[in-house]
Amino acid sequence: MKRVIPAMIRSLAVSLLAATVLVGCGKQSDDASSNSAEAVEPKAKPLIVYSSRAEHLIQPVFDLYTEQTGTEIQFITDKAGVLIERLKQEGESTPADVFITVDAGNLGYAAAEGLLLPLESTVLEVNVPEHLRDEQNRWTGLSLRARTIVYSTERVAPEELSSYEALGDEAFEGFLCLRTSKKVYNQSLVAMLIAEHGEEKTQQIVESWVNNLAVAPLSNDTKVMEAIVAGQCDVGIVNTYYYGRLKAKNPDLPLALFWPNQEAEEGAAKGVHVNISGAGVVKYSKRPAAAQALVEWMASDDAQAIFGGVNQEYPINPAIPVDPEVKSWGEFKASEQPLSQAFELQPAAVKLMDRAGYH
Ligand code: FE
Repeated sequence: MKRVIPAMIRSLAVSLLAATVLVGCGKQSDDASSNSAEAVEPKAKPLIVYSSRAEHLIQPVFDLYTEQTGTEIQFITDKAGVLIERLKQEGESTPADVFITVDAGNLGYAAAEGLLLPLESTVLEVNVPEHLRDEQNRWTGLSLRARTIVYSTERVAPEELSSYEALGDEAFEGFLCLRTSKKVYNQSLVAMLIAEHGEEKTQQIVESWVNNLAVAPLSNDTKVMEAIVAGQCDVGIVNTYYYGRLKAKNPDLPLALFWPNQEAEEGAAKGVHVNISGAGVVKYSKRPAAAQALVEWMASDDAQAIFGGVNQEYPINPAIPVDPEVKSWGEFKASEQPLSQAFELQPAAVKLMDRAGYH
């Protein structure tokens, strides 16, 4: 990715220059069109997207949009935090029209920093379930991923598993692997546990996880699964698409996903924790209507099918069929807590994990 970015920034700079020229042409042409019915329509400027999603995940979606609408899209990719800082720095002079990232925690932060425009959109209201959109309509989910339990099929029977909370039971002492608490995915997971249980009980749950750790928290979800395969631990918590990627490389992977919190169990949250990739229109976009049209289109059928396929995620719109491989992992009941809470309770989650010794 690092190699791609400078080239992209260069092409962005060139296009911005071109775009400035085109704006001028557009004005003249608009004036001319009032006098002449034969005036040529100016070519629309490319839309500019800042994305923390990788190029190979968004390029096919943008290509199809250009094919269907004629609107060109240029983008840069970087880490979510870097792009948010950049939007803050650029302020009103930003060239960006649309911001794409993962996790409601990141989207919530961008919105709280005043970087996203509230959208009034029937399309989003129809296509995206309410709990997967911002309460103030500043961002919307575009694809869904579950953060669920993964286990060794060689050493664990699925009957031994039940809930996130139960990973802290004595039976798993020395058998649990977790990714670092620094990752927003775990901050959102714990934020949602706080929403369900309150801080005191959530801290006890997190402490019980820490007590059961087989090894110190690992740097990413793939390492969690590799540690289970290597026999360092038996169970972990991962995002579904990382499991899909590893399984694509090794079809005989001795791991399976388990869908926790499916029963209405006393003391357990309801449903699997899900999170999103999503987008919002940049507050200072010079073309907010065109930017909104792109975001709405990404929540529509054609784009949704691509989102699900390329990263093995779930469509945000429950009416769209799930990718066959993803479907083979089984159906589950997802939590329907509003994802806005993932950001609102994130500071509490970060402090709580620190107090619980989860680093
Ligand atoms: Fe990820």
